[in-house]
Amino acid sequence: MGIGISGSCEQCDWFYLGTGYPEVTKAYQDHLRDEHPEVWLRR
Ligand SMILES: [Zn+2]
Repeated sequence: MGIGISGSCEQCDWFYLGTGYPEVTKAYQDHLRDEHPEVWLRR
């Protein structure tokens, strides 16, 4: 470990730093679902 995986949102300035892609991906999708439901539904 040691190197974090970061994720950011194209719709706003949301930023997330996690330890693995699954974690970051889940956090990003949770964020989309909560904050950008239109984008979430379009996926
Ligand atoms: Zn966002």
